[in-house]
Amino acid sequence: MIWRDRCLEQRDWDAVIIGGGITGAGILRLAAGLGWRVLLLEQRDFAWGASSRSGKLVHGGLRYLAQGRITLVRESARERERLLREAPDLVEPLTFLLPFYRGQRELKYRAGLAVYDRLAGRRSRQRFDAASLRGLAPCLDRPDLAGGFGYRDAATDDAGLVLRLILDAVGAGGFALNYAPVTGIDGRAVVFSDEPGGRCCEVRARVVINAAGAWSDR
Ligand SMILES: Cc1cc2nc3c(=O)[nH]c(=O)nc-3n(C[C@H](O)[C@H](O)[C@H](O)COP(=O)(O)OP(=O)(O)OC[C@H]3O[C@@H](n4cnc5c(N)ncnc54)[C@H](O)[C@@H]3O)c2cc1C
Repeated sequence: MIWRDRCLEQRDWDAVIIGGGITGAGILRLAAGLGWRVLLLEQRDFAWGASSRSGKLVHGGLRYLAQGRITLVRESARERERLLREAPDLVEPLTFLLPFYRGQRELKYRAGLAVYDRLAGRRSRQRFDAASLRGLAPCLDRPDLAGGFGYRDAATDDAGLVLRLILDAVGAGGFALNYAPVTGIDGRAVVFSDEPGGRCCEVRARVVINAAGAWSDR
């Protein structure tokens, strides 16, 4: 019996997750790791939604520092470092340059980046004078360029990260079906189509998790 049929045969689950983007995939991996009987249902290909169309940055949220959102920045920066450690083939360091011009306060940038590094638990900032910065980025050719800083965030293959999480989850005993759009929820019953098999299916779950992204309300 092929794996998909084996999965479709099961009627009762601890949790059913609707949506195979990064949110659903992350929950699937966590739940499978906890030993839950968990099924993820995706209407198209895994990562078909926003999770394959993002800017592909794994950032600590430098801009949120200016809004004083320290807890958020600390959590994102530490998650970034964790992803760099745990998935080095999918998440790579990416350096950003932050120029400043005569009349702007260098101290503001220096202090902001020092806090950013501190929250990440790792120093990445670097100071460049105007000539070095022009060498790195010739497009920064304004005559009032005073210098700049480099700091490190990260970039990823967003769809690849989703697939990695799903594969890890399946390895840990979770189940995930694509081409299985959920068409209705009635209490603990979840109704979906098995498109390759051309049939309508119904399963029961103790918990239904809506991870359908922009489609959540629908
Ligand atoms: C232009 C843009 C740039 C971005 N850049 C970044 C960035 O650089 N870094 C960053 O961290 N974040 C970025 N984001 C945000 C990030 O992409 C989203 O936060 C993230 O992808 C959301 O993931 P998700 O799993 O919640 O939703 P999605 O990836 O959209 O997943 C939802 C899934 O649910 C499925 N679904 C919907 N309805 C059903 C149904 N009835 N049955 C079964 N399945 C269903 C959909 O097919 C879809 O695959 C960006 C977003 C956009 C739009």
